[in-house]
Amino acid sequence: MRADILTIFPGFFRGPLDHGITRRACEMGLAEIQVHDLRGFTHDKHRTVDDRPFGGGEGMVLKPEPLFECLDTLQLAPREDRVARRVKQSVILLSAQGQRFTQKVAAELATLDRVVLICGRYEGVDERVADFLADRELSIGDYVLSGGEMGAAVIIEAVTRLLPGAVGNEASTRQESFTADVERDSEGPDSTCGSGGLLDYPHYTRPAEFRGIPVPEVLISGNHEEIRRWRRQQALEKTLRNRPDLLDGVALSDEDAKILARIKAGQE
Ligand code: SAM
Repeated sequence: MRADILTIFPGFFRGPLDHGITRRACEMGLAEIQVHDLRGFTHDKHRTVDDRPFGGGEGMVLKPEPLFECLDTLQLAPREDRVARRVKQSVILLSAQGQRFTQKVAAELATLDRVVLICGRYEGVDERVADFLADRELSIGDYVLSGGEMGAAVIIEAVTRLLPGAVGNEASTRQESFTADVERDSEGPDSTCGSGGLLDYPHYTRPAEFRGIPVPEVLISGNHEEIRRWRRQQALEKTLRNRPDLLDGVALSDEDAKILARIKAGQE
């Protein structure tokens, strides 16, 4: 996959994308990340990228010309083909007003060949960019950041680790929080508890006892069926406690429903 980032702060990306799985994916040729400085697409001596808003109001707005000109150089398929999904490309505007970026969207983006991420700044971006240049707007959460760079880095990291081959043990990305459509019990002990859209179960490593705190005994029992059941119960408990909203979208087995009923009864 190739990702192009359009930004007025290209230096921002020196660092966040140079570590761990993202770096490895680039080194392995699974991902290629190009950062484009929007000031390189201006034509005045001050390299102006912003202007005052029509109609008055606070702040400045990112001008459309540098964004359109930069995108012209990227040789993408026409917007109508991208939007109709006739090609595996997507141009994304980072925006607090966008659809929420979720693990599901990350998985969707991981199937594409090209992703372009447009980072807004100031009070936002001239709306013609959302209407005529970008294919979709994505928000990384219900809060307002000063720019889209952080969001672009978040999206690239979440998507890159889903590219086949990027993570050493691919099964691990299928077992994580929010990850639905996982075939449970299909691959032995390693996949004993695909999250199926729940939060992940707790993980422990050595030492088995640390500062007097032991790891749950079941995990050292060697009994895979009990471990699977315990992990599922923990995932259900944590989801109920921290993100009960997720339970609405999860296909619960009879066993899950019984566990949940027991947890809820215990809370009363
Ligand atoms: N006036 C805008 C509003 O109220 O929705 C906020 C603009 S914000 C200060 C500047 C830029 O930061 C946006 O154009 C967008 O690119 C980025 N941004 C801010 N919050 C974001 C979020 N939650 N997710 C993604 N991008 C965000």
